[in-house]
Amino acid sequence: MSRLVMKFGGTSVADIERIRNVARHVKREVDAGHEAAVVVSAMAGTTNQLVDWCREAAVLHDAREYDTVVATGEQITSGLLAIALQDMGVTARSWQGWQIPIVTSDAHGAARILDINGEELVRRFNDRHEVAVISGFQGIYPETGRLTTLGRGGSDTSAVAIAAAIGADRCDIYTDVDGVYTTDPRVVARAGRLDKIAFEEMLELASLGAKVLQVRSVELGLVHNVRIFVRSSFDEPDRIDPHGTPPGTLICNEEEIVEQQVVTGIAFSKDEAQISIRSVADKPGVAAAIFGPLAEAGINVDMIVQNVSADGATTDLTFTVPAADYQRAESVLASAKNAIGYAKLDGASDIAKVSVIGIGMRSHAGVAARAFRALAERGINIRAITTSEIKFSILIDAAYTELAVRTLHSLYGLDR
Ligand code: ASP
Ligand code: MG
Repeated sequence: MSRLVMKFGGTSVADIERIRNVARHVKREVDAGHEAAVVVSAMAGTTNQLVDWCREAAVLHDAREYDTVVATGEQITSGLLAIALQDMGVTARSWQGWQIPIVTSDAHGAARILDINGEELVRRFNDRHEVAVISGFQGIYPETGRLTTLGRGGSDTSAVAIAAAIGADRCDIYTDVDGVYTTDPRVVARAGRLDKIAFEEMLELASLGAKVLQVRSVELGLVHNVRIFVRSSFDEPDRIDPHGTPPGTLICNEEEIVEQQVVTGIAFSKDEAQISIRSVADKPGVAAAIFGPLAEAGINVDMIVQNVSADGATTDLTFTVPAADYQRAESVLASAKNAIGYAKLDGASDIAKVSVIGIGMRSHAGVAARAFRALAERGINIRAITTSEIKFSILIDAAYTELAVRTLHSLYGLDR
């Protein structure tokens, strides 16, 4: 017998038929003797609609009321799934964030989970064999007693946090894809599904644009060592062996991965812009003068590259921001020009960031050098490079993204 968290995303609960399909997945596990806590998202499109309504009501609105509105999507699904389960003869009860409670910070619209009391859920597993159907994405800030939400895609994080709280053996994320791929299969037809990926690698992949999971959920998995299994909800529920290994990707501790590849996956993002600040003074406080105002404006800066000054007086500094923030970043820097002191600003928004990820890089030298050679042979110019222990990222012209990703995918033996 295992204790499982089963999380279903918006497309998996898009209508009543699909909710019934989800109920059959749950029933299969319960019939096999497993204990199940189910976490659901809002039905596909619902959260977007709710967000739109808030904006329509007032462009600038109270974040507490935004949470009141957008948290309702999940309440509908949890109730409907409990009804569908009961209709199949499965004992089930729905739970909203405030009922458990799922205690969060007061950062409305982007709250962080602080504590979950899983005792009552566990007691009901034991006493009644009752399935808990929990609304994802939401919690409560106890000081004010108000509803909170965790940020878009937050029900992944709810699921992993609940798995940690009830000591689940695994957190199954049922979604519209059957796992995590070596890269986006729409770009590289020969991309393959990974059987296993380490938390750290998945964290990089998710941060770098793979949209399978909310980044925060992977962080929680890493911290609490919750094994996360990404699998498809569209597989025929009754054909799956509840004791077998279905197709999917297990996100786990690196010790659990026996055949570790040097490179696990390649991520890319075209929504990047590059800004270069020319001839800034090479003296203490300049980086603070540049990145302080950007941080205050809520602009996320990535890939900072600064050269060592040749003349000891000035240097150039390059970094990337999300393309959507490009104009804003330029105007923030223009207004801070006197405080920073630079000769000129230039930039480009038609660029892409390609990242190669793998824990094996810790122990293998020359991994990045091979990429530079292969890209050079294809005439792809690299604008900037950053590295960390388990990944390196390059900045290139967006037009070469697909070519670069395909080149690297075969270079590192990832082609299926
Ligand atoms: N329904 C919420 C959203 O769309 C949370 C989730 O689905 O994870 O962002
Ligand atoms: Mg999602």
